[in-house]
Amino acid sequence: MTFQQLGIIPSILNALKKEAYVNPTPIQEQAVPPVLKKKDLLGCAQTGTGKTAAFAVPILQLLAEQGSVSPKKIRALVLTPTRELALQIQESFVAYSRFLPLKTCVIFGGVPQNPQVQQLKKGIDILVATPGRLNDLIAQGFIKLQDVQIFVLDEADRMLDMGFIHDVKKVIEKLPKKRQTLLFSATMPKEIEELADTILRNPVKVTVTPPATTVEAIEQSVYFVDKENKRRLLIHLLQSSEIESALVFTRTKHGADRVVRELTKAKIRAAAIHGDKSQNARQKALGDFKQHRTRVLVATDIAARGIDIEELSHVINYDIPEVPETYVHRIGRTGRAGMSGIAISFCDINEKADFDRIEKLIGKKVTEVPEHPYPMQITTPTPKSELRRNRGQRPVRQQPQPQKRKRRRRDRNPNPRNHRNGLRKRRL
Ligand code: AMP
Repeated sequence: MTFQQLGIIPSILNALKKEAYVNPTPIQEQAVPPVLKKKDLLGCAQTGTGKTAAFAVPILQLLAEQGSVSPKKIRALVLTPTRELALQIQESFVAYSRFLPLKTCVIFGGVPQNPQVQQLKKGIDILVATPGRLNDLIAQGFIKLQDVQIFVLDEADRMLDMGFIHDVKKVIEKLPKKRQTLLFSATMPKEIEELADTILRNPVKVTVTPPATTVEAIEQSVYFVDKENKRRLLIHLLQSSEIESALVFTRTKHGADRVVRELTKAKIRAAAIHGDKSQNARQKALGDFKQHRTRVLVATDIAARGIDIEELSHVINYDIPEVPETYVHRIGRTGRAGMSGIAISFCDINEKADFDRIEKLIGKKVTEVPEHPYPMQITTPTPKSELRRNRGQRPVRQQPQPQKRKRRRRDRNPNPRNHRNGLRKRRL
């Protein structure tokens, strides 16, 4: 299948050539034709599957076919949960429309609104926005949505996780009833299904990876390790292996800062990206990482959502996420667009139950790396009540039983990945 066979017009084909896209990805193959036919779409796809182009390309084509409108009006609106995603989507629209007279503008919170308002005043065709800032600017009368013909709700499940669903519904109320709607979500919780039912009309359903399953191209492994040894294990892996660069996830902002401090002490270049950092600091951290000036980017889930880092080989779950779907989102940062990736998880005894839930969700056992310098010594979980009371306090050390554990795990998995294999970088 080629983009030409999907019926893409020459000016966009040329832009895609400049992006070095040779063939459409599966989501593009499936989504482009119905969107061009002005159908509603329910896309169950993660970031990394090429979903941005799957909606951006046909939207640009539909608008281009209408010709230029003067003065310009917002004819397409893309709502996405984070600033990073909003910027990336806008960059994609700009790239694919480089030979078209269409203008895209991006707005998000956390920065002064004035430059954004100035951009809007010049007239735009496509608006990419996060929900909070969009509602602010609507309330102040700077944005009207009455001419929107195509509405994209991106990462709907994450909107829900981040508590934006009310803001999203407020935006939807302002949209014309007669419109084309495209909804994308990596997972389909009940609330999103209900929302989809109310805002989509006879949608074409497109699923590229079944909900909540893990991209096949990603090699996953887990190290069972005590909480207090995680930082040593991380430094050990980074010092002794072929990991060129890694995105490391922590549950908390403090945790992210702590990991950066430890890595910096060990002379490993690292930076953190989380909600307490200014927009500038986040952009710089991301830029430095992309340019390989820093080797490790430590992020919280919300900050990292959807950030697009081409050729990211390793994702490390320094903490195991409490919500199993978050694991799928995290490891989806690697293994993008045909490239394979490696996801490594550090699991302590108190996270074991969460990890079991993750394995249940993805429907397979993650390979354990049994041979490493910091095998788990603490094998009894801290009672939940104590965990809450003594947050951060170390659990009681039990008699170490490493041999017994190892044998049990090996039995379960006859072919455990050895330490080096677990770190192998591979391209498809
Ligand atoms: P997305 O899922 O939209 O975040 O896209 C993931 C990555 O795949 C981005 O870096 C895109 O530039 C890239 N990409 C999207 N479509 C294609 C394609 N047809 N061929 C090669 N790369 C692509």
